[in-house]
Amino acid sequence: MSPKVIHRARFILTHPEILLENTAVLVSEDGRVLEPCSQADARTETGAEIIDWGDAIIMPGLVNAHTHLELTALYGRLREFSSFTDWAFRLIKERRTWTPEDYRRSTEEGARLSLASGTTLVGDIASGNGWSALSGECPRRVVFEETLGLDPELAAPAMAGIHAVFDQAGREETRPVQVHAVSPHAPYSTSGELYRRAAAFAENRKAPWTTHAAETTGELRFFKTGDGEFREFLTRLGALPENWRAPGLHPVAWLDALGVLGPSCLLVHCNYLDEDAIARIARSKSSVVYCPRSHAFFGHEKHPIRRLLNAGIPVALGTDSLASNDSLSILDEMRYLYARRKDLTPEEILRAATIHGAAALGFTDRLGRLTSGFFADMTVLNLPPGIKSPRLIDQILEGAGSWRATVINGRVKSAFL
Ligand SMILES: [Zn+2]
Repeated sequence: MSPKVIHRARFILTHPEILLENTAVLVSEDGRVLEPCSQADARTETGAEIIDWGDAIIMPGLVNAHTHLELTALYGRLREFSSFTDWAFRLIKERRTWTPEDYRRSTEEGARLSLASGTTLVGDIASGNGWSALSGECPRRVVFEETLGLDPELAAPAMAGIHAVFDQAGREETRPVQVHAVSPHAPYSTSGELYRRAAAFAENRKAPWTTHAAETTGELRFFKTGDGEFREFLTRLGALPENWRAPGLHPVAWLDALGVLGPSCLLVHCNYLDEDAIARIARSKSSVVYCPRSHAFFGHEKHPIRRLLNAGIPVALGTDSLASNDSLSILDEMRYLYARRKDLTPEEILRAATIHGAAALGFTDRLGRLTSGFFADMTVLNLPPGIKSPRLIDQILEGAGSWRATVINGRVKSAFL
């Protein structure tokens, strides 16, 4: 097949471990990578558009596996809080008056900021407002429609609501890069019945599903004993059924006991895990998303990413929303991790930001590498002239280079010109 577009650059990272120099990526008509080849060979191809990025590196598109684009407008508005539940309460209050138009604008701004920092794929939590077509360009989006409710009696109506949103999404003009999926919110807010129904729904659709889990010590305490800040929080919201009883388990053990963990499950945060929880996640082949700067924003203890990776669990990276972070840039997350977690290798950080995120969002063997047959989603970074290849990835993670372009299906979606 002859290429439609050829992207050239001084460096091309095809996999987290494979760096090529003076190479080109040839992209087919249908937006897939043909075999990377030398620039000399690429010159002989005729009829293809050639984009030469010069002193730059082309890498697999960065994946933000957990964010809430609809909360982008909350940037800087929730910095003062006394506890996690106080923050959550303020967040609920802030968005209470938002109209669908407010949500759309906030989501569009999040999509723009994502593209403008090199993100090609997002796992995006939405609350009934994320489906309508966005104006402007957008990364690939797996939109997880959020559902919650601790009363098991409300599980059936909640899923009926999800079906209605999906039906409406099917009727509206939506972008072909969107995947529609579901997210039961968190163990402290969602009944076991609703988890079962949501997981079965995802299974039927062959789509991933995601949930926040084991995010705070307050959540663990509430699940163990039924008291603490989460009891107060849920009572204040009128969301705690009178007959709710604490399971007496770690939230991950509880999800496992429900039978919902599995390869299509993406657990968000997992900041507090015991060895039993890690073993259960590994056995079920679920994935985890770690949101490093949001984790720091709330002052959590050191994240167990090292133990998760040692157990063979794929860990992706997420920014969470701008209600608990300063940017939607995965490159910023990678650099943050590189500076602080000397127990992680540059390749592990790269894998988290590319292959693991893509697989967790349902794109196994389609995204995350620049290899033959994969979609040509790429992040282009400008590099200082004369930079040398030894330790190139280390230098980038130390801060060398800056975002230049975001490419999806071989097409430039956003670029710094
Ligand atoms: Zn979140």
